[in-house]
Amino acid sequence: MTSLTEFSITEAAAGLRKGDFSAAELTQAHIAAAEAGRPLGAYITETFDLASEQAKAADTRLAQGDAPGMCGIPIAMKDLFCTDGVQTTAASNILKGFTPPYEATVAANLKAAGAVMLGKANLDEFAMGSSNETSAYGRAVNPWRSGETDLVPGGSSGGSAAAVAGRLAIAATGTDTGGSIRQPAAFTGTVGMKPTYGRCSRWGIIAFASSLDQAGPITRSVADAAIMLEAMAGFDPKDSTSVDQPVPAWGASLTQDVKGLKVGIPNEYRVDGMPAEIEALWEAGQAWLKDAGAEIVDVSLPHTKFALPTYYIVAPAEASSNLARYDGVRYGIREKPDGASLSDMYEATRAAGFGDEVKRRIMIGTYVLSAGYYDAYYLKAQKVRTLIAQDFSKAYESCDVILTPTAPSAAFALGSKTDDPISMYLNDVFTVPASLSGLPGISVPAGLDKDGLPLGLQLLGKAFDEQTVLNAGAALEAAAGFNAKPNAWWAA
Ligand code: GLN
Repeated sequence: MTSLTEFSITEAAAGLRKGDFSAAELTQAHIAAAEAGRPLGAYITETFDLASEQAKAADTRLAQGDAPGMCGIPIAMKDLFCTDGVQTTAASNILKGFTPPYEATVAANLKAAGAVMLGKANLDEFAMGSSNETSAYGRAVNPWRSGETDLVPGGSSGGSAAAVAGRLAIAATGTDTGGSIRQPAAFTGTVGMKPTYGRCSRWGIIAFASSLDQAGPITRSVADAAIMLEAMAGFDPKDSTSVDQPVPAWGASLTQDVKGLKVGIPNEYRVDGMPAEIEALWEAGQAWLKDAGAEIVDVSLPHTKFALPTYYIVAPAEASSNLARYDGVRYGIREKPDGASLSDMYEATRAAGFGDEVKRRIMIGTYVLSAGYYDAYYLKAQKVRTLIAQDFSKAYESCDVILTPTAPSAAFALGSKTDDPISMYLNDVFTVPASLSGLPGISVPAGLDKDGLPLGLQLLGKAFDEQTVLNAGAALEAAAGFNAKPNAWWAA
């Protein structure tokens, strides 16, 4: 029998229903894998006892015969989602020991569907980063290696992606502000889906940049992404930006049929310095979809080159405002030297609690919002953001989805970009435009580079048209036939 940690959600759900194994057994197998997988640094907090209890409850529900698809599925929860009674850190020292008295809506939705939470997954501090190296709880490592070199799993949802790729969880939640689901998925050979802004409630997700943050799944197949997103999404009156639209049956409606689908190829995504292998994979993706009956059309997204600078103004601006609440009064750590005044305490707490990247974002954000510079930076960035969104609206007049590479490189070596924030930010070049425009996107593993590392292709869709994105993703997945997996060096 296939090892219990090899199953997709779809396969595990079928096995649970046939009685091939119980949720308790499935969970135990993943707990053992997570223990053996500790060198990957995928989890900040392990919740194995809770998982065992939840698995038992799932078995009872399965026996009653009306359990939803996620029932009994062991998952990792990005440690940016507040979880009732379970430490939630955002990978920051400032939230060390913070135990929320409530559950994020997305986490609650998954819980209600019977999903089993194995632990809280590692991430970049406050989800700021593309490599998971800014976590105050140690870096997560990519299960894929280049020879003996350890690689980043991508970020910010690096622990989530490492857990799924390394078989330490069947699936995981992520959040994506500028690419944090899609880029780590590409770096680890997994599927990452960011839905339309407003699909998933942001309530209880620790805020980074509120106009951009969205939750989504990291899975090992497109079908799994559809099932898991269905369980996560839904209107929530507690989030004023949550959209009051029914959640479609993405899983049941999933098809690989892309006949007549118009796939747009944006010329502006042919950026300087893109490795030839990624360019070639992008071409291959076009050929696969064309062979499957889609029509390839050229589209133009003329403001693409302004997306990164716009994002790196808007996101830090919102972050500087969102992170003002961490002052040592209500949450996490407090630094109060003897005789310190209140403002001394604020300063000491924030100096000790935040890491360098978070401080850099707060400083940039505060600067671009300051009275003298607001018009020159923040206001201008907001205007450019509108132009970028209009580019997409225009492009979607002549196509249904847009195909691009997910990232301009494969996973890079740990430490290779930590001293160069700009080169780290450049990683997000293909993911931020859709984030700024609130559009859905998926990264599908599509091939290996010459070093045997996974590469992803990205499909972007129209607002609230996740189904077309998923369908095209399924067609791409079928054509790419990606079935490589990392060898479990950490367990040796
Ligand atoms: N890498 C981007 C950043 O550092 C995106 C992060 C994210 O999507 N959370 O801001």
